[in-house]
Amino acid sequence: MTKFAYYDGGIVPIEDAHVSITCTTLHYGIGCFGGLRAFWNDEHEQLYVFRTHDHFKRLLNSAKFLLCDVGLSIDQLTEITVDLLRKEAWRQNVYVRPIVYKEDGIFRVQLHDSTDKLAIFSQPVGHYIKSDGALSVGISSWRRIDDNVIPARGKICGTYVNSALAKTEAVLNGFQEALVLNQDGHVSEASAANLFIVRDGVLITPPITDNVLEGITRHSIIQFARDDFGLEVIERSIDRSEMYIADEAFFCGTGVGVAVIGEIDHRQIGSGDSSPIAEQIHDLYKRVVTGQEEKYLHWLTPVYAK
Ligand code: PMP
Repeated sequence: MTKFAYYDGGIVPIEDAHVSITCTTLHYGIGCFGGLRAFWNDEHEQLYVFRTHDHFKRLLNSAKFLLCDVGLSIDQLTEITVDLLRKEAWRQNVYVRPIVYKEDGIFRVQLHDSTDKLAIFSQPVGHYIKSDGALSVGISSWRRIDDNVIPARGKICGTYVNSALAKTEAVLNGFQEALVLNQDGHVSEASAANLFIVRDGVLITPPITDNVLEGITRHSIIQFARDDFGLEVIERSIDRSEMYIADEAFFCGTGVGVAVIGEIDHRQIGSGDSSPIAEQIHDLYKRVVTGQEEKYLHWLTPVYAK
């Protein structure tokens, strides 16, 4: 059970961390957030937070879009997170949610002259997508928000209406997840995960400029693929029809980890029963985040002193 939160400048019992019903962010979605994960390694008796620097850099970038200033550096945000996780004394995998919000009242549909606040809490991780095996995915009838509507490269609260529309449509239509096209009709990403496909041994992922989140798992996978597996990785637009004929396809993100796509719009992806490249990447990802790969230890922030 989550017991504490960072709120209004200090760590407090979670039940004391409140916002008012007049809060700007509640009404208009004017705020931004992050999503980090901490992984428990039983053997090391250690909790490792994955890529804190990059997650908090993205949070501060998202805050910049919204003219939010929480007055804290990446190092300070990391320190607060470590203090909070230590106080919670987690010995299991947890999700960490920092949120930057505007506390002002409802007559402030604006970014300037605002009271910007930061809160952070953590909770045990559930399964973001309910699935035991490869995912069944449907192309959404909703389109991904465009950079000149609301920046898609950042994690802006209000844009998750778009994610929720796509996710619920997919699930109510019998799929497990949605794949959303952008305004140009190219594939962007899932409701809350980035996408890769494999064609003839080459890994392909939509460029950020196709209105996808600057995903940290996506970035990590590009590095693994090139440096550890010697694969060619291309960032380019992907057509819907290309999804149907991919050899492999998978989603990736802090919540989903690496999740293989088994079929899309009722077309089986590849052979349907194996995704060797995705599985290889997934295995390395699991080793990296739990501190089992020396080479990537610099991506981990240990929570407990040794
Ligand atoms: N796209 C969206 C829309 C997301 O919400 C997420 C989850 N943060 C991702 C992609 C994956 O990003 P990351 O690997 O940084 O978690």
